[in-house]
Amino acid sequence: MNEQWVSFANEIKKMYGKYFVPLHEPTFNDTEIEYVTDCVKSGWVSSVGKYVDRFERELAEFTGVKRAVAVVNGTAALQIAMKIAGVKPNDEVFMPALTFIATANAASYLQAIPHFVDVSEETLGLDPMKLEEYIKEIGVMKNGNLVNKKTDRIIRAVVPMHTFGHPVDLDPLVELCLRYNLALVEDAAESLGSYYKGKHTGGFGVAAALSFNGNKIMTTGGGGAILTNDERLADYAKHITTTAKVPHQWEYVHDEIGYNYRMPNLNAALGCAQLTKIEGFLASKRALAIRYEKLVEQIDGTRLFMEPTFATSNYWLQTVILDSEVHRRDDVLALLNDAGAMARPIWTPLNELSEYKICPKDELTVTEKLKETIINIPSNPLKGHAFYDKT
Ligand SMILES: *Cc1c(COP(=O)(O)O)cnc(C)c1O
Repeated sequence: MNEQWVSFANEIKKMYGKYFVPLHEPTFNDTEIEYVTDCVKSGWVSSVGKYVDRFERELAEFTGVKRAVAVVNGTAALQIAMKIAGVKPNDEVFMPALTFIATANAASYLQAIPHFVDVSEETLGLDPMKLEEYIKEIGVMKNGNLVNKKTDRIIRAVVPMHTFGHPVDLDPLVELCLRYNLALVEDAAESLGSYYKGKHTGGFGVAAALSFNGNKIMTTGGGGAILTNDERLADYAKHITTTAKVPHQWEYVHDEIGYNYRMPNLNAALGCAQLTKIEGFLASKRALAIRYEKLVEQIDGTRLFMEPTFATSNYWLQTVILDSEVHRRDDVLALLNDAGAMARPIWTPLNELSEYKICPKDELTVTEKLKETIINIPSNPLKGHAFYDKT
């Protein structure tokens, strides 16, 4: 068994031509240097400039939503997406327990309370069927709002997260949100370039958040964006992320407590350059998944997680599912990392973290199972693929 993992690591090193292969790192070429240099030369490196406008326009175009508002990071995008969707202090927000901590932190910044629910083995994301059963058990409609019978708090929103780029089953979730007056806010931080039944993720609810952190499918250094099909909400998101400043030639008038969350032009320049290559990144990651699927097949008790039937995934992080009868997760992680192929487990479920232990939650049987059986392996686009030559 150990030899199988070591030879797998050796295959990975051969594929990438490296002695140690990182999990994920940014891919740049002359285009980034050209755009960023142009930005520096223009003097417009800060929070206004032509690259911010262009980046927002092109993001909206690529994702098929009406508007995108660029901000400093994905966590800030998620906070503002929830805020414009109506999340208020003391509201509860349904979210998967198996997600990156930013999903819960963004709700906490609004003084809302994360309410953890279980995920599906088919998507690795929020399970709409199980959520429906749970709502019937703990919820009651009062004055048009869903109220948690146990805490007497309003449950305002649902925040599904498209794990490693694989879309959750959105149709039943949209229907559930309509029925119980819940705002749907997608944490699409990992799913730029992922489609549900042919439509880009991030356009199914009131708003969504993207992240352009250095480890994501494309990067702006640090950055994020709020997506929405509601022009009025987009204008409001732009306003409050720009210190809520009322436009005036010289006066400083701010009409509420806003945030300084604008994405600097310098970062947007990097983003515009990366966006010109997004189709190449996606094609390369898909090709990598097909190669990995064959390699992983040769290891007993493992499989590569493949996109759900209704989805076209961006395959952001390649994911191996271990049979827990055959493998101990941490043994596998040690073998791969020692052999030079970086590998990491999925996140610790948020309900287990000290600051989120007290939050309300459903029983989390699938979460419990998956946390022991999911690892990520090196996922960078492979060299030699077409996008390297495209500028
Ligand atoms: C990366 C990520 C975020 C946050 O993005 P940052 O840009 O790092 O703030 C939020 N949610 C999920 C699921 C992520 O993977």
